Amino acid sequence: MKILAILYKGGDSATSEPRLLGTVENQLGIREWLESQGHEYVVTDSKEGPDSDFQKHIVDSEILITTPFHPGYLTADLVEKAKKLKLCVTAGVGSDHIDLNAAVKHSIQVLEVSGSNVVSVAEHVVMSILLLVRNFVPAHEMIERGDWMVSDIARNAFDLEGKIVGTIGAGRIGYRVLQRLLPFDCKELLYYDYAPLPEAAGKAVNARRVEDLKDFVSQCDVVTVNCPLHEGTMGLVNADLLKHFKKGAWLVNTARGAICDKDAVAAALASGHLNGYSGDVWNVQPAPKDHVLRTAKNVLGGGNGMVPHYSGTTLDAQARYASGTKSIIENYLSDKPQEAQNIIVGVGKFETKAYGQR
Ligand code: NAD
Repeated sequence: MKILAILYKGGDSATSEPRLLGTVENQLGIREWLESQGHEYVVTDSKEGPDSDFQKHIVDSEILITTPFHPGYLTADLVEKAKKLKLCVTAGVGSDHIDLNAAVKHSIQVLEVSGSNVVSVAEHVVMSILLLVRNFVPAHEMIERGDWMVSDIARNAFDLEGKIVGTIGAGRIGYRVLQRLLPFDCKELLYYDYAPLPEAAGKAVNARRVEDLKDFVSQCDVVTVNCPLHEGTMGLVNADLLKHFKKGAWLVNTARGAICDKDAVAAALASGHLNGYSGDVWNVQPAPKDHVLRTAKNVLGGGNGMVPHYSGTTLDAQARYASGTKSIIENYLSDKPQEAQNIIVGVGKFETKAYGQR
């Protein structure tokens, strides 16, 4: 059987740090195991265009392993060509780079390693909120430049205490963000999600659900996006919704780049309507050098906390999603049932409720 993995190139870092398991070099640590069973394991980072290894090998692979950090976009067209494909495994969380409707149509299962990096991302969200609210990035840049002008930083630095913070999506990550924010004594914690939290869980984080999205954002000082990308969330945070944000609000997006309209976000920063935007996800990855969100700034020349997509790929997370990927493949090869929480698309149907209301 042919198993194809699209991973990111790790370069010197990966050769000197074997715990970078999610790289082309370290191959999720499963090459020997797969080859000892007689399988062919193709690992590559070449994923764009008709001449890519991805498009070359997808036609006769039975299992496709991808990662959200360097997404191999399995479009409906490619699904049509992938005649032998039976299983897509996302090494990580978030399978929007797979055309899930096409997978349903062609009875291709899609599984991810649910929960494998949710703490990693939740920690990054809290960090991103703090670095925006406290105006950290311009402060650090000033120090590196050799300057020292406290008032230039303090004029746009605030405490998180007393602010209203809301999450779009209160699943594994969104809920962990709320848990981690509790000790900051925010004025209120809010969430927007079509799936209400169980009563006890909502009470435990003292979070109030707001059912209307415009009403929700209009109440928040900080909005954090923690829902999957699907038909119902593509471009959800657009120019129209941004008008309903409080003036001077901060927006953090570690979910998926395409949930926020990049140009609308950049314009809202430039006009002063948003005070900051932070996160690690981009509408195209790798982000082109001239991507507007690499350099977008608020009116004071700060407010940008963007980094490459790495919040969910800490070394701790890589150990978890590499071992989760192996067990999903092991179950598949030995005909054992998969863990229910990992199944996004089962044979011919959606098994999760998180990828939109259907
Ligand atoms: P989850 O399935 O546990 O929770 C997702 C929640 O979003 C669910 O409660 C669902 O009801 C809600 N939701 C779906 N559509 C919504 C909508 N239109 N409006 C409001 N809420 C909606 O998933 P999770 O583990 O919390 O992960 C969430 C997403 O975070 C992933 O799908 C992925 O895109 C992203 N993620 C990013 C990284 C990273 O490294 N940056 C890592 C892991 C996950």
